[in-house]
Parts: sequence; structure tokens; C-alpha cells
Amino acid sequence: MRIQSPEVSLLRATFESRLKNRPRRVLGCFTALVLATLAVTGSIAVAQAPPAPQAPQSRFTVVLDAAHGGDDTGGHFKNGQLEKSLTLAFTTKLRSLLAARGINVVTTRDSDATVDDNHRIEVANHAQALACLSLHAAESGSGVHLFASSLSPAPTAHLYPWKTAQAVWVTRSLALTGDLNSALQHASVAVTLGRTALPTLDSMACPAVAIEISPERIPESATIKSAVDDPGYQTRVAEAIAAALLVWRSEAHQP
Ligand SMILES: [Zn+2]
Repeated sequence: MRIQSPEVSLLRATFESRLKNRPRRVLGCFTALVLATLAVTGSIAVAQAPPAPQAPQSRFTVVLDAAHGGDDTGGHFKNGQLEKSLTLAFTTKLRSLLAARGINVVTTRDSDATVDDNHRIEVANHAQALACLSLHAAESGSGVHLFASSLSPAPTAHLYPWKTAQAVWVTRSLALTGDLNSALQHASVAVTLGRTALPTLDSMACPAVAIEISPERIPESATIKSAVDDPGYQTRVAEAIAAALLVWRSEAHQP
């Protein structure tokens, strides 16, 4: 099933209903920024074979955007950790896993630096990447939240507005979300899927997904099984993302 406009009302109702039924859940910093979020649990296959807006690049490049940094701390965790540090640590781990698999990685930051949205977008859009992942972390929620842009798909065009560049790519972003969802569920990680309006995501001219990592919780309870900074949990999530990108690479290079 594809998440498209006829289903928007239903999905919104489903998501709002789920939120009402989860009183203990407080939205994370990334989620709080969302202007319009439509989410369903991860059992839904997200996309079908998308059209390719551009010819595949000769080398498969992935952009990793560690959200926040420097003056922008992101969320504050109860144990004193800051989201900006967690996203950087996770990005570093994921970059190393991808490099070991022969995937070229471009990052928007490699240190605790303040990076504005425009710089992140410029890095992503100059990399000619076949996947752009913006990484967040939250203390609330459970498992991994995958967000694709809520922009409606637009036909391929050589020129398109900067702020809505993702419209040309969003169908492929949904397909990438599907691969990530499959790999994470295969690794027994709970997944929540959503659509969102986020400036960085909406401006990216590449298949783009925002990934928010929350603690792993025991089903039907709020008890944390693995915190976001749990090395084993981080590795499991990172390896699942790497596996999904290998699948994505094979799909992206098909004619
Ligand atoms: Zn965030």
C-alpha cells in the first residue's frame, strides 16, 4: 500500500488516535517540530517501484546528516545526555559500517559544530547521493521512527523550487523508507512510519528519510529494554540501516 493523499485523512485519524492512547508518550524534539505528521505502525509496506528522477550515479553515495550540533543541543535526556551528541555518535558508527561495505559517505558534520539547515541542504544536494538520512534521537517513544516528506509527488523537472525540491524525489523516499522498515523489522526493531514537513527534508534533492531513534521498550509497557545510547542497540539499528542501504543500492542501480 502506498501512502498517498487519498489516505491522508485516515492516516491522520489513525495517528492522532494512537497518540491519544499513549498518554505516557511525549513527542521528541524532532517530532515536536513536525508541522504535519501522519504516522502508522510499521507493518505497512510503504511504496512500490518508483520512477527514477535522474540517472543513477556511478558511485553509490549516502549522505548522513547528524541533526543538531553546537549551539543547537536538540533534546535533553534525563541522564544528562544531549541529542546532538547521540546523533553524532550514531552517525559515526553508521558511517564506519557503510564504509566497510564500500559505500561512499558524505556527512553534514563530524564534530560538535553548529550547522544551519541551509548548509545541511547544500551538502546533501551537492553530493548527488542516492540516499540522504537525517538522524535524530529521542527519549520518548519506542524503537525507530521513519519520516518521509509530506510533500505531494511532483513530476521530474530540471528546475524546481529549493524549498520543495523533495517533491520530485518523495516517491523514491517512500521506497527507501520501505527498505529501511523491512530491514529494521527483520532486526526485531519496532518501527513507526510517518510523513512530515521538515525544512531540511523538504529541500533535499535525493531520496531522503528522517530517522529518529528512541529507546527500545518492552511491548505493552513503558519499561526501557535498551536506551538510545546502548551500544548493542545502536549497533543493531545501524547494521539494519546498512543492510537496507545495500538493498537500496542494488535497486537504485537497476535500469
Ligand atoms: Zn532532533
